[in-house]
Amino acid sequence: MLFKNEYDVVIAGAGPGGAAAARKCAEGGLSVLLLEKRQEIGAPKRCGEGLGLSFVNHLGFKGNEGFVTNMVDNACLVAPNGKEIMAEFPDDKGCILERKLFDKALCYKAAEAGAKIIAKAKVIDVLKENGKITGIKAKIDGKTIEIKSKIVIAADGVESKIARMAGLDTKNRAQDIDSGFQYEMAGIELKDSNRIYLYFGNDIAPRGYIWIFPKGKTVANVGIGIAGNRKKTAKEYLDEWIETQPKIKKGSIIEVNSGGIPVGGLLKKMTLDNFMVVGDAAHQVNPLHGGGIDEATVAGEISAKIAIKAIKKGDTSDKTLKEYNDLWWKTRGKDLEKIEKYRNLVEKLTDEDMNILAGAVSGTELLDFAVGKGETLVKILMKNPKLFKLARHLI
Ligand SMILES: Cc1cc2nc3c(=O)[nH]c(=O)nc-3n(C[C@H](O)[C@H](O)[C@H](O)COP(=O)(O)OP(=O)(O)OC[C@H]3O[C@@H](n4cnc5c(N)ncnc54)[C@H](O)[C@@H]3O)c2cc1C
Repeated sequence: MLFKNEYDVVIAGAGPGGAAAARKCAEGGLSVLLLEKRQEIGAPKRCGEGLGLSFVNHLGFKGNEGFVTNMVDNACLVAPNGKEIMAEFPDDKGCILERKLFDKALCYKAAEAGAKIIAKAKVIDVLKENGKITGIKAKIDGKTIEIKSKIVIAADGVESKIARMAGLDTKNRAQDIDSGFQYEMAGIELKDSNRIYLYFGNDIAPRGYIWIFPKGKTVANVGIGIAGNRKKTAKEYLDEWIETQPKIKKGSIIEVNSGGIPVGGLLKKMTLDNFMVVGDAAHQVNPLHGGGIDEATVAGEISAKIAIKAIKKGDTSDKTLKEYNDLWWKTRGKDLEKIEKYRNLVEKLTDEDMNILAGAVSGTELLDFAVGKGETLVKILMKNPKLFKLARHLI
């Protein structure tokens, strides 16, 4: 048999969150089983594949690995009236990844650390004794198998079911889920292949944006993220926009991706006795730009730190695991909560507001705003009578 029937920790889902938790738990001396329902880890991708180089370094990579397809130095934000605002990335470069390779690379690291990983292994239920989680039930090779563990970590992404099966309320409100749709396109014409482009406007991408993330000189992820429940689908919005862009329209479609993005509804409670939830499954995504690779990874790492402590102490009760909840809220939750407030404001902006904003602030201030540092932006808005009302919402 490829695996045992008992582990310290069993993790459901081998995305960045699950892989990070598996790696750190294994490095901390725990026995770990990481199960992934798909037959190939990382494929198909559901991602624009953008990640900061400093975060790639944080994971122990130099940034010259095969999974980094391209580096970007700056962003061009395009207002509804077409005004382009340039923003240099001051302290970091951006990497455009090949997620299929990146997610595997994360799993290689976890396996090297001693975690056992099995693809095409779907967690179908949690095991409970006296109301407490004692392991999982999985479908592997057509067989239903029960595996015991001291802790179960659910890292099963935006469509997570495991946490709900365990007894946590992880339901997301419709308004807190964005719809993402993307083409990987080749044979397109890019003004600058080391620059990402972000297009804003209620007509083209309501409460969201269209992105071009270049993977090479003529290849890019061209995608859109919008609030759900709109008259048109994300695909329809993107197709209509591409029609207006001859340099993109002339390209070919190499891959089609779509998926939900949880852009709000952070969970106050992410633990139970013997149980934790991380990543998209816990809505740990930047509510404004929708990036979640780093957030899932950080949460996976924090959950592992607490799992190691709890297992060494011989106490995996909710009271002990709650430290993950507290530490995550202190490290990331407060910032994401603030960004969620910004998101609520941004979705009220008219195109005219956005155009005024584009004329009043710099690209760097807008990028800072997207990661929760909105103070400079507020000061500028306060000085502008037309934007004063926006500033008041941000304070
Ligand atoms: C269109 C789109 C574009 C995006 N672009 C970016 C971007 O450019 N940069 C960025 O940082 N983020 C981006 N994101 C968000 C990012 O992809 C996610 O936040 C990130 O992958 C979350 O990691 P995770 O480990 O929590 O979940 P996932 O990466 O979704 O991994 C969860 C894994 O669990 C598996 N699984 C599910 N159920 C089970 C089960 N029952 N048993 C076993 N395995 C199971 C799934 O197959 C999956 O592999 C984008 C998302 C979308 C939809």
